[in-house]
Amino acid sequence: MIIAIDGPAGSGKSSTAREVARRLEALYIDTGAMYRAVALKAIRTGVLPESPAFTTIAESILIHLEPSADGVKVFLDGEDVSGAIRSEEVSVMSSRVSQRVDVRRRMVALQRIMAQRASDSGRDVVMEGRDIGTVVFPAADRKFFVTASAEVRARRRARQLREKGEEVDEKDLLREIHERDERDSTREASPLRLAPDARVIDTSDSSFEEQVENILTQIRGNAAADAR
Ligand code: C5P
Repeated sequence: MIIAIDGPAGSGKSSTAREVARRLEALYIDTGAMYRAVALKAIRTGVLPESPAFTTIAESILIHLEPSADGVKVFLDGEDVSGAIRSEEVSVMSSRVSQRVDVRRRMVALQRIMAQRASDSGRDVVMEGRDIGTVVFPAADRKFFVTASAEVRARRRARQLREKGEEVDEKDLLREIHERDERDSTREASPLRLAPDARVIDTSDSSFEEQVENILTQIRGNAAADAR
């Protein structure tokens, strides 16, 4: 079974998807982490994703995900960058590199291979991102679109960053979230949009446990219906 969980930044999608995968003993694939690793490469090399010179990077970059106790480890050209990809600078850059068609093509191919391997070995997959239910796996068995108001998302993001010791201004974060939403949903290549057959989970007023239970209930409910 492939479970697609899409939604905008800060919707609670990642932590929810991770927990749903853990409870189902499914493989968890965080596709945002892959775009973040590409972004880190852009920052480190100083090559702007909008420049033609980025083509060489897009073609040669090696990204690898490995399951770990707290979700997933991300490797960029063999180096563990799991911590380094979580900064605000990388968040902003990841939304720029993800506009590139060549980057998306490579990431989508990798995502399909990872899911195929898991399903060949009889494992369910929970894959989260922006275009999983629309582009990567349009025929996914279950599709969810996790969302929340921009204000709630900015507040959550501020808390996360503060916990990591980063200084934040909530107003700046809210502006960045609006800009990122705008870029993610209006870009030409695989924009963030709701798949017609996805279930919308609005997390603005629900607790983490409620979100997880809601998704698990729908997965189990559908599974029972499928079996009839
Ligand atoms: O989910 P996360 O915030 O870690 O994703 C980082 C960025 O990667 C997003 O802002 C989005 O631009 C991009 N992304 C994407 N397609 C995906 C996952 C993430 O374009 N499937």
